[in-house]
Amino acid sequence: MTARRIFGVETEYGITCAQPPAAPGHEQQVITADDAARYLFRRVVALGRSSNVFLRNGARLYLDVGSHPEYASAECDDVHQLVVNDRAGERILDEMTEEANGLLAEEGIAGTIHLFKNNVDSAGNSFGCHENYLVRRRRDFPAMGEALVPFFITRQILTGAGHIRPRAGGGASYAFSQRADQMWDAMSSATTRSRPIINTRDEPHGDAELYRRMHVIVGDSSVAETTTMLKVGMTELLLAVLEDGVKIRDLVLAEPMRAIREISHDTTATVPVELATGRRLSALDIQEEFYARVRGHLDAEGRSAELTAVQRKVLELWERGLRALRTQDHSLVETELDWAIKGRLLERYRAKHTLGLDDPRVARLSLAYHDISAVRGLAPSLVARGLMARITTDEEIADAVTHPPASTRAKLRGDFVAAAQERRRDITVDWVHLKINDAAQRTVVLKDPFSPVDERVDALMAALQA
Ligand code: ATP
Ligand code: MG
Ligand code: MG
Repeated sequence: MTARRIFGVETEYGITCAQPPAAPGHEQQVITADDAARYLFRRVVALGRSSNVFLRNGARLYLDVGSHPEYASAECDDVHQLVVNDRAGERILDEMTEEANGLLAEEGIAGTIHLFKNNVDSAGNSFGCHENYLVRRRRDFPAMGEALVPFFITRQILTGAGHIRPRAGGGASYAFSQRADQMWDAMSSATTRSRPIINTRDEPHGDAELYRRMHVIVGDSSVAETTTMLKVGMTELLLAVLEDGVKIRDLVLAEPMRAIREISHDTTATVPVELATGRRLSALDIQEEFYARVRGHLDAEGRSAELTAVQRKVLELWERGLRALRTQDHSLVETELDWAIKGRLLERYRAKHTLGLDDPRVARLSLAYHDISAVRGLAPSLVARGLMARITTDEEIADAVTHPPASTRAKLRGDFVAAAQERRRDITVDWVHLKINDAAQRTVVLKDPFSPVDERVDALMAALQA
């Protein structure tokens, strides 16, 4: 076991309403993405007057004006727990989608709302999947950035969601990441090198003397549970090694924002990019270095034997993913890594129907991979056919829809929210505050994200239930 760490993932979802063409001579009400989002949140708003709510499973669900529905997972301290809480978010949003579709039908509007766990919509707008990791304040965070920036830029060769990229002269090619081109567009003018893709937030959501919250905006959203597991798990292990004092300074990239694009577009992962030292290494070389140093440090410290089951799975999949790329034998990871699962699906479909990668039918299939609907999405049938692996059970996910992670601050929040809902009491909650909105205005500030117990909250709960 490495030092305990808190992490959470925020996912913005793509939303659209698919409508059949209007019958000749009939007007049809057009449902824009904004309209669809309002239908989605109608019941949430009716219940709590707001489209920004904390749920009884400890997570936050919200809709900023005119933007994408977002689910920010509860604070987790274990990767398996995070995967479960994140998938619970999909189920919650899928139920909201079904309800919204029911409302459309009741109002006689033809159309079906879809929610996508991806990072780019049909108009080319990009939206994010942010990872948050608690880091210890005493460590020199900028120095850690020398390791973290090349790590995040090359991680996409394992954890990218796969992306069909239109080519300038026509046609299309497959890339590792949906987010890479967008990051480049958004950030290429930025001056500092580590700023664009990782930063520490002003709000650590905890004791600012002790902790920082590292905020990573460069990753793709993940569909396969095993890809989420690897994405967060490999990052957790690297942070543990860096916090142990290991320095990784020789992998700094000469031009990170150019490299992020080039690496995404090179699905062999073997074309070299330039390092600050003048050396040229491929994304695969760089990830092999990171893997070897993390593994080497854990082994040398005798800590490998203490790793949790999920941490061991992470190391195993990290190594196997690199081997799949080195040998170009993608079958090694074709049920576990999104880019490979989706890539295989698209290839099979194209071969069967003799279609180009730029065919709209292929684009539709690619989009359906990200549809979170239990009925319209592809993931459930891919799992059933043995084409997509899982690490959770349906029972665990169903439980996590209404129950918070038991080992972190999320437990206090989730239980408080549940009690208030049952007692129909008016409360205000955020990551660090729990408050009863009554004459006494009792508030508890929770500065320790690691702690699932607190006497002050016990007293608050008693007041709530009185
Ligand atoms: P924005 O949506 O503007 O990017 P934000 O990044 O401040 O906002 P939220 O959307 O509210 O944040 O999500 C915060 C995420 O950080 C959640 O997933 C939560 O579980 C996680 N988190 C909360 N406290 C901590 C902490 N102390 N350390 C690391 N992660 C945390
Ligand atoms: Mg957010
Ligand atoms: Mg964020």
